[in-house]
Amino acid sequence: MIPFTYTINPARIVFGPGSLQQVATEVRNLGGTRALVLSTPFQKQDAEQLNATLGKLGAGVFSDAAMHTPVEVTERAMQVYQQTGADCVVALGGGSTIGLGKAIAYRNNALQVVVPTTYAGSEVTPILGQTENGVKTTVKDASVLPEVVIYDAELTLDLPVPMSVTSGLNAMAHAVEGLYAKDRNPITTILAYEGIRALKEALPIIVKAPQDVEARSQALYGSWLCGTVLGTVGMALHHKLCHTLGGSFDLPHAETHAIMLPHTAAYNQGAACDALAPIAELFGGDLGEGLHAFAESLGAPLSLKSLGLEESDLSAAADLAVKNPYWNPRPIERDALLALLQRAWNGDSPSA
Ligand code: NAD
Repeated sequence: MIPFTYTINPARIVFGPGSLQQVATEVRNLGGTRALVLSTPFQKQDAEQLNATLGKLGAGVFSDAAMHTPVEVTERAMQVYQQTGADCVVALGGGSTIGLGKAIAYRNNALQVVVPTTYAGSEVTPILGQTENGVKTTVKDASVLPEVVIYDAELTLDLPVPMSVTSGLNAMAHAVEGLYAKDRNPITTILAYEGIRALKEALPIIVKAPQDVEARSQALYGSWLCGTVLGTVGMALHHKLCHTLGGSFDLPHAETHAIMLPHTAAYNQGAACDALAPIAELFGGDLGEGLHAFAESLGAPLSLKSLGLEESDLSAAADLAVKNPYWNPRPIERDALLALLQRAWNGDSPSA
């Protein structure tokens, strides 16, 4: 066994269809008396409904959460938090809304109850990404880790199938990188394998039957485990490339992860052969090819070209990705990265 050091992130998890009804109890148990409910504009109605069900515990709704947690939005939310006399937040939504709750907690230690409605996994990480004047910075701080997470699969029944697929593959990417992380430990390896297994089983069912509560529950379970891995160990080439493509070329978060995963897994599978063996087997032997075929079978986007990236940007993307690289099991070689990016841009399979 490899030596390891493991810091466990504390969180209370409430899991099950219908568990949205537990929000008031969980807020009270935390000692909260007025909860500001957060959402994106798209989920405003759901947030207002939740606020209404909270009665006196509901301080109101702030529904301007946006991708990449702009500091300007956080500052407006902080004003509403103060004006409404809130002493905690309830974040209802995906990574963008959860990011806003974390950004508030980072500034005033607000207690957070989070109700995730995608599979991004942010709710169980102490990581906050924020943008100011177009520059994205990331902080890792215990104060941003939500205290309570409520997983209610009924809230994900209407998550559109294309988003369900890309969000699920985004979650899998956390776990794939967790399997070969330098600071992995036996528990994160178990979580990563089980998270990938659960999502691999659930996503094909969701594509055929989006309203299948059991498959939706499996997918949320998988995303919890994958998110826990993300929050515990360091990420490598895959996350570096996705952050580069998202941050410098404005590509959408989940779709970029979904497209890049087969290629980054293929890049690392020789160097991390033993660590990846159990999931390579799950995907038919060759992990990169298996993940590519899986994504294709789900109807996921396969090419960076389809996201609007210009072919002429690939060289600059490779240059950026080799700067300040994250630790990676295989050395980061610019030419090999450029070839990888070209295949991902074309939508080719990783071994093309
Ligand atoms: P998102 O939160 O941006 O959601 C995308 C859109 O889908 C929004 O309009 C949202 O309201 C809508 N939506 C969410 N759930 C829905 C549902 N069930 N039904 C219908 N519509 C729904 O997308 P995301 O992929 O969850 O989050 C991406 C963001 O999260 C990025 O900014 C990323 O950097 C961040 N993130 C952070 C971490 C972390 O640990 N800090 C981890 C993963 C992702």
